[in-house]
Amino acid sequence: MTITQAHLGRRGLLACAGAAALALPTGAQAKMPLGQAQAPYFYRFKLGDAECTVVTDGQLPLGDPKTAFRNITDEQIDRSLRDNFLPASNAVLEQNVLVVNFGDRVVLFDTGMGSDTLFGTTTGRLPASLRQAGIDPAAVDAVVMSHAHIDHCGGLIADDGSRHFPNAQYYIGQPDFEYWTDETKVPSNYPARPRFIGQARKNLLPVRDSLHFYKDGQEILPGITALSAPGHTVSHSVFMINSGNGQLCYIGDLAHHPVLLLERPRTQFAYDTDPVQSAESRVRMMDMFAANRIPILAYHFAWPGIGHIAKRGDGYHYVPAPMNLDAVSQI
Ligand SMILES: [Zn+2]
Repeated sequence: MTITQAHLGRRGLLACAGAAALALPTGAQAKMPLGQAQAPYFYRFKLGDAECTVVTDGQLPLGDPKTAFRNITDEQIDRSLRDNFLPASNAVLEQNVLVVNFGDRVVLFDTGMGSDTLFGTTTGRLPASLRQAGIDPAAVDAVVMSHAHIDHCGGLIADDGSRHFPNAQYYIGQPDFEYWTDETKVPSNYPARPRFIGQARKNLLPVRDSLHFYKDGQEILPGITALSAPGHTVSHSVFMINSGNGQLCYIGDLAHHPVLLLERPRTQFAYDTDPVQSAESRVRMMDMFAANRIPILAYHFAWPGIGHIAKRGDGYHYVPAPMNLDAVSQI
């Protein structure tokens, strides 16, 4: 009898595997120890003359997607996740921190959760990831933040009050700085409100003397231009990075999920301060990336978050770029 897919339930597959194992001589069974370590959590590529490294702050499990994503039906969420072979019960985000070494300057984009465990204990890996990647935090000249949320500014200040990047200057939008450090501005129903305000104050107030406020369209450092994309927060921004002939857009939290927020880009996210404005920014920027074939690095997309945006139907489709682990190659 031919074994077809229709015949192969889980039980059938197990039965086949069991029969094969029984047929092998006992000496052919694997003896390598189980529980080996995972691969290092950094990835390196070139952008023009610059050398870029994605380092992780660890996975951020957001929980039930039906709580986190709005303006979309439960059935649409279920179908989209199922069609993309993603789990239905937990939306897991990455935290892809980008480090760009221009040769004469090292710039790091967003800093992860620090020691805060609001989303569990898999976050807070940035210092270890930097060590794995051979990057000395003291060599970082500039820390650019897309916005003042806990998972982006949380890694500036250690629990003993010292700076993780002792020689850096810091860049953020002034409205975000003022909003998230002032408890009279954040609405009372904002999710995990005390934690968001507390971490913004803990991490941003101590570096106030080396904080620079960027403006829309401003080249904040050579090769780095801030582009305002508000809505997720009041002055959330993305950054166009240029070196030689290379161009990449670091999109921060323009989209948190490569399926749910792109297939239907008007879907809203529970942590947006203005979800309608956020969707407008998303559509405007994604149209620009698609039309100009600009590669993006998305902070929360599946590791390492590098790819392109294509238009598809009324929304977009994210196409991850192939990883080259044979050489440090151009994006
Ligand atoms: Zn985020």
